[in-house]
Amino acid sequence: MKFALVDGVREEPSPKVKGVCQFCGKPTMSKCGTKVRWHWAHTHKGLCDPWWDNESQWHRDWKSYWANEYQEIVNFDDTGEKHIADVKLPTGTVIEFQNSPMSQQEL
Ligand SMILES: [Zn+2]
Repeated sequence: MKFALVDGVREEPSPKVKGVCQFCGKPTMSKCGTKVRWHWAHTHKGLCDPWWDNESQWHRDWKSYWANEYQEIVNFDDTGEKHIADVKLPTGTVIEFQNSPMSQQEL
């Protein structure tokens, strides 16, 4: 994930910083190496959506066409289920980027 909450503020990762996942509220750790793009990862696996820590560069690049404040926005659907929109615009338009097959039901 590109953003986590650090002292309650959404921030991009920087070296050796701890945060909180804006989706599940569990601890995250900045990952700022040289081989993989900088990102946040949960400190314990299995606490959140598994895809969330493994965002591809393709996905990150697409989101980055929009301003940071429109990326990774927490939303609730009609059933109350929580989701994170890749991009949500002030108009309410939600944009999700999908680079792998998806069932019609999931769509
Ligand atoms: Zn989480």
